[in-house]
Amino acid sequence: AVIAHKAKVEPTVHAYLSDSHDRALATAKLVDEAIAKGDAISPLAGIPGAIKDNICIKDEPATCASKMLENFVPPYNASVIERLQNNHYISLGKLNMDEFAMGGSTENSALAKTSNPWNADCVPGGSSGGSAAAVSSGSAIWALGSDTGGSIRQPASFCGVVGLKPTYGNVSRYGLIAFASSLDQIGPITRDVTDAALVLNAISGHDAKDSTSIPGTRVDYTTALVNDVKNLKIGVPKEFFGEGLNSEVRKAIEEAIETYKKLGAEIVEVSLPNSKYALSAYYIIALAEASSNLARYDGVSYGMRVPADNLVDMSTKTRTEGFGPEVQRRILLGTYVLSAGYYDAYYLKALKVRRLIKNEFDEAFSKVDLILTPTAPNTSYKFGEKANDPLAMYLEDICTVPANLAGIPGISIPAGMSSNNLPIGLQLLGPAMGEETLLRAAFTFE
Ligand code: GLN
Repeated sequence: AVIAHKAKVEPTVHAYLSDSHDRALATAKLVDEAIAKGDAISPLAGIPGAIKDNICIKDEPATCASKMLENFVPPYNASVIERLQNNHYISLGKLNMDEFAMGGSTENSALAKTSNPWNADCVPGGSSGGSAAAVSSGSAIWALGSDTGGSIRQPASFCGVVGLKPTYGNVSRYGLIAFASSLDQIGPITRDVTDAALVLNAISGHDAKDSTSIPGTRVDYTTALVNDVKNLKIGVPKEFFGEGLNSEVRKAIEEAIETYKKLGAEIVEVSLPNSKYALSAYYIIALAEASSNLARYDGVSYGMRVPADNLVDMSTKTRTEGFGPEVQRRILLGTYVLSAGYYDAYYLKALKVRRLIKNEFDEAFSKVDLILTPTAPNTSYKFGEKANDPLAMYLEDICTVPANLAGIPGISIPAGMSSNNLPIGLQLLGPAMGEETLLRAAFTFE
């Protein structure tokens, strides 16, 4: 049924870059057999999902929506895929994204243009735009995305679905093609909070293949799905409600605050004064790490190669043709902030700001259980509106990047519609490994 529905919506939405229907149907058959035999199956077994194209599935393309990796087929599975396979997962294919997860509208994809299912003239958000658009249009029941500075939460908010960025280290990054390794996390995009908990159950946990993976066993996140926020203290940081916040978004978030009050939560004002530096710090740290991570695409080891007379020319031509303009811009800026003479002034300074931001969140979470903000200052917008203005695009990440810098979990849930019928997202942030409280508060609101 989902494959049939997908055939109807994909011609307008274009969420997918590749399909794996044969594999999906073969797994579905196995699940049917298991059910017929009366075997115990996981709640995810047989439920069709789809995977962002920067997560490696053995023998399926993993393009990162880049010409550089257009023909790359990984020889191994990401750890999240191994875990999902143990749950008889079904993937209908790989999903479009901004090239190497760099962007906020999926317009930076070198391979396809994905539309917002609510309005085909508008962007789905990004960089996991394919993941959010697939779930929103029903061509997948759940999806995996990755979030380095908001790439799960912001497209979820633009497409009216749920997006969860787990605590850094809760989900293994092994087999996620790296953008900025100290910020990247894989997480679910789903239609509701229950599904987010189910997918998180399947993918989270310690993994010896990721040195930053958090040790210990994980709880069953569905136990957190309790319809009760009484005795929860929710902090509202005034810094997230300043200039530049769209008035309809502000109104929807203020209404959500009232809803939480009615449900019995205590709302308190908190202050995160260093969050005004978060965007600058993010765009130094993320780009520095990206410039190093993307050095591996030299025409030798992976993906594309443009032949030339000597090694240096070969590498230069490959990188010039293989990377799109935004990726090249970021490699150049990242290389600049890491170079001698600028390292101390930019990169090291940004790391210090990052620590201050983390400390500020720790301090806030000694007083409140959760923090509530908009997911993005605006709703979705028309194609081309910000594509030629990188700074305008970067500014849209202002509400989401602090969580990545601090390593804390965040969830975006639908919180109403704008007058032009585009979804508005509400963001909840929690302390490290506080996913249960996040899920509980999100579940109660929904
Ligand atoms: N929009 C942000 C950026 O362009 C976040 C991307 C992400 O989370 N992958 O860097």
